[in-house]
Amino acid sequence: MNKRHQASQPAAGPSADHFFSIPGARADNWRRLHSLARDWARGSGDAEAVREAFALLTSVEDFFAYPGRTLLAALTKRIGSGDAAGVASLAQRISEAILTRSYKEEANDWETDEAAADAPPDLGSTTMTPGRARRPYFEMLVVAPGAATRAEHMIAGLRALRRPEDAMVYEGVPVPSFEDAILAVVLNPAIAAVTLYEGFDHRTAKDVPILRSFLASAGLDAAQIAGDDLPLSLANAIKRIRPELDIYLLSDRQVEHVAGDPRAANVRRVLYSVEELLELHLCVLEGVADRFRTPFFDNLKKYAMRPISTFHALPIARGKSVFKSDWIRDMGEFYGLNIFLAESSATTGGLDSLLEPTGNIKEAQDMAARAFGADHVFFVTNGTSTSNKMVHQALIAPGDIVLLDRNCHKSHHYGLVLAGGQPLYIEAYPMTAYSMYGAVPLASIKKALLDLKAEGRLDRAKMVDLTNCTFDGHIYNTRRVMEECLAIKPDLIFLWDEAWFGFARWSPFLRPRTAMGAAEAIEAWMNDPASVEAYERQQKELGADPSAEALLQTRLIPDPRKIRLRVYQTNSTHKSMSALRQGSMLLVKDIDFASVEAQFHEAVFTHASTSPNQQIIASLDVARRQMELEGYGLVANAIQIALDIRREVNSHPVISKYFRVLGADDMVPAEYRESGFTDFFTPGTNWETQVRSMHEDEFCLDPTRMTLVCGTAGFDGTQFKKLMADAYDIQFNKTSRNSVLLQSNINNTRSDVAHLIRVLLEICGQIDRGLASGGENARKALAARVKSLMEDVPDLPNFSHFHEAFRWDAGKTTWEGDMRSAFYSAYYAEGCEYLPLDSPDVDARLEKGPEMISANFVIPYPPGFPIMVPGQVITKETIDFMRKLDVKEIHGFERAKGLKLIRPDHAKDHIRK
Ligand SMILES: *Cc1c(COP(=O)(O)O)cnc(C)c1O
Repeated sequence: MNKRHQASQPAAGPSADHFFSIPGARADNWRRLHSLARDWARGSGDAEAVREAFALLTSVEDFFAYPGRTLLAALTKRIGSGDAAGVASLAQRISEAILTRSYKEEANDWETDEAAADAPPDLGSTTMTPGRARRPYFEMLVVAPGAATRAEHMIAGLRALRRPEDAMVYEGVPVPSFEDAILAVVLNPAIAAVTLYEGFDHRTAKDVPILRSFLASAGLDAAQIAGDDLPLSLANAIKRIRPELDIYLLSDRQVEHVAGDPRAANVRRVLYSVEELLELHLCVLEGVADRFRTPFFDNLKKYAMRPISTFHALPIARGKSVFKSDWIRDMGEFYGLNIFLAESSATTGGLDSLLEPTGNIKEAQDMAARAFGADHVFFVTNGTSTSNKMVHQALIAPGDIVLLDRNCHKSHHYGLVLAGGQPLYIEAYPMTAYSMYGAVPLASIKKALLDLKAEGRLDRAKMVDLTNCTFDGHIYNTRRVMEECLAIKPDLIFLWDEAWFGFARWSPFLRPRTAMGAAEAIEAWMNDPASVEAYERQQKELGADPSAEALLQTRLIPDPRKIRLRVYQTNSTHKSMSALRQGSMLLVKDIDFASVEAQFHEAVFTHASTSPNQQIIASLDVARRQMELEGYGLVANAIQIALDIRREVNSHPVISKYFRVLGADDMVPAEYRESGFTDFFTPGTNWETQVRSMHEDEFCLDPTRMTLVCGTAGFDGTQFKKLMADAYDIQFNKTSRNSVLLQSNINNTRSDVAHLIRVLLEICGQIDRGLASGGENARKALAARVKSLMEDVPDLPNFSHFHEAFRWDAGKTTWEGDMRSAFYSAYYAEGCEYLPLDSPDVDARLEKGPEMISANFVIPYPPGFPIMVPGQVITKETIDFMRKLDVKEIHGFERAKGLKLIRPDHAKDHIRK
């Protein structure tokens, strides 16, 4: 990070308000303490600054095992006694240990005494068990009364139980209260297990105002928590924040007393007090080992090691055809032997079959279901493109109506062609200035359903299909969308395409807005007796026969007794987690799944390859393991990195002259931001509004998806993307006319941020120098270019309608159509014609008819959504847009031939009667 940044950004404050920045800021703060202490030791600094920096640090250090109380006490003592050199040396050691994470393996990092710390590592030590094969390290939160004594004692006891053969090693983090426990699980990503010791306090002694609003927004406010109940309430609260954590309860009372409470389900094991320390130790290790286990991958590794002669068709398996060859050996050398040893077309040897899994693939899928909060998971090795088609195929029959965002990935449109479902396109709100679309307003979805109802065809509406989050980062209020739709049709199915959003499960802020997070909340709501009352109260208010207008205006409550909750999610695990390309998951939470399970298997048989790639399956298994064990910290880091980029670009005095990352106020119209939230760094915005926005707003923004406006620097999106890739090795995601999309993920580090900022600064410097040397002319040229990119933007064409020939029995007010028949009409050459885009015939047809009917999908990249679909009547809007479009890649359109149209006189020829 540059100097200015350091100057304007004091080390993160002591309050825990900086939820995301604390793990990263800790290392900075320790470095700062070291440098101040060094100045003090050299006589150029002062003790007061050191004391302040130390106070700042200690307020959060309680939530981390390292450096821990002993080292902190040693520092306090040295500061008190004026031992400047001693402070500097210890602060330096701690600072380095935190930065390099060496404390996970180096016992010496935990020593206060310098002489001991410098001694060669004791390889036989089991206290911190350094070196050797690196074992995974995690931390266990211990919530206990008077934490300083009782918990410390217990942690020391657990440490004494370590054995060299343990597969992992952990340290304890003692805290004294409910609130401190919440702070610890929020702030410390290394925590993997929690032990609750009855009798702890409720309130923290720390001053953290944000904590209470965070708890309240998560439905965990103090009022709901009674004293006697504290352990189970805490278990419940922790599960809401980090569902993957194992929770243990140590009780002095009869352990049966908790068994009857439904919340006891959150506790992995209840143990009778400290007598069972060994039992606890073994449970803790077993609990983490259970998440660590990857049934398919583990077996694949074993399989690869076995001597096997293959007589099946896969010459590459075992690598002999590669390594013995003079001509392709480099492939073997490049990939290494293991990938060939792990290749097999067998489903024996414990490898299981993806098409009908009964063994370790099934087990791996079940573990993924647990991790992602679904009832069932299907692993898919052909990308989410295939997952989506599977859902369509399995759930949609010819003639069923699907409410579909036209912006959806093309796999949905093609899925409907294959399944014969009729798309009822619902429009996202346009963001014309940036040549992109937002998301579909709930009012439009409700209106489409109510129109179908008015026309007596609501029974045909089978599914609502939306992208969450959208490519550009708009996140739906998934819960509200489903509740209001279910109030109109209680058995609607939802398909949420979360291709980019799979990681969101591991953020407590984003999780409620995922398909599975919302489904879980709705399920809980359905079981609450108050929900029926709320429903009935609203029914009374609405009266016997409410108008469509009244239903549109009301935030509808569904009848909890009637809902059939049927939620599907697809995610490209490879896009946001550590899976190999094409690794995708299909998540199911469908109360009526039993009735469609056979269809699902047919869909899998239809679409899945009979030769699924073992490595992709293994990577899905491993991606799940990673997310269950470190997903929380990785996702928090990705969010923090995105927030850093947003702040740096938008506040940097030079960069912000030419570039800007769009905020919620640019991306989401005010009417969909009920909380009034504007952007992450608008002055006056605090955590509370941010959390409220996440909670309430119709749409909010995924912070990790950043639309960087480059038109204001005179670049169009494609040009800028190319420049960054060619000259600076920075790759961006998609582009629009005047912007590029940046995305942070679990792979990014803070140095990526520094590199990006440095490069943007360099580009701004070039623009500045160009303007300075080019004088008035250069200034005018840039201004004209910026105006063209930012202001002369084509209107985005709405979906027009399907041609009458493809409208079946469609009603007067709804616009679904038989896209499949239109699609296949184009297979008959005599029924098709081509019209060059610039031909005057096009204008004549627009004016006098006959209507032009698109024969196929036309999808320009960017923006990447179909501006024509088969059977769609082409309007002037669409032609204008096509003529202005200056992108090279347009799928389904050959410029030389022109628009492919279905001849109106042939349109009806091939339609199913
Ligand atoms: C990428 C993407 C898909 C397709 O996923 P693949 O894994 O690339 O097949 C589907 N939907 C959306 C929204 C996507 O972004």
